[in-house]
Amino acid sequence: MADISQIISEIEQLPHFRTARCQKCSTEIRVHTLEIYVTCQQCGVQHKCRSLGAAGTEIQDVIDAVLSWSGRGEEFDAVMKRREQILSDG
Ligand SMILES: [Zn+2]
Repeated sequence: MADISQIISEIEQLPHFRTARCQKCSTEIRVHTLEIYVTCQQCGVQHKCRSLGAAGTEIQDVIDAVLSWSGRGEEFDAVMKRREQILSDG
């Protein structure tokens, strides 16, 4: 297992979007990094973009865990408050 500083570094360097190429028609598709499936705008074929095994093996799975942990209502409000602090600290 990677150490925490390595995981943080990987998250900081993770691009928000990436491009994939449709396996059927070769159209270039822009996809958000957390997206599990993307549908080709040209031919309508759906592609799986993430492995999503039973055990989290991608850095995106770490982000999913954090998003899940952030909860709803009061819990989520507290997370958003912290997020604003982080973003305003630059
Ligand atoms: Zn296509």
